[in-house]
Amino acid sequence: MGIFAKPDLDIDWQEYSNCLGVDPDLFFPERGASTREAKDVCRACVVRADCLEFALQNGEKFGIWGGMSERERRRIRRQRALERAAAAAETG
Ligand code: SF4
Repeated sequence: MGIFAKPDLDIDWQEYSNCLGVDPDLFFPERGASTREAKDVCRACVVRADCLEFALQNGEKFGIWGGMSERERRRIRRQRALERAAAAAETG
């Protein structure tokens, strides 16, 4: 599927993705449009965790990845940054 078109990254997991052959537009809904259908596809996906981590590591700003919206991924990134800062403060 076209949403994974980044070179030089470990993307073997993509061949198991549940969204293969699904309309990519579903995963990039218009602002304010429902994300439910895309999330339903992700829910049954065996590589959901890999997909989410890929998006987090690569700062994917748009679309549904690993069953999460941009806003949900931002929350995870913020949380991880806080945890890193706390860990650094502990060891610092
Ligand atoms: S989690 Fe969703 S977007 Fe990611 S590979 Fe699976 S079905 Fe596709």
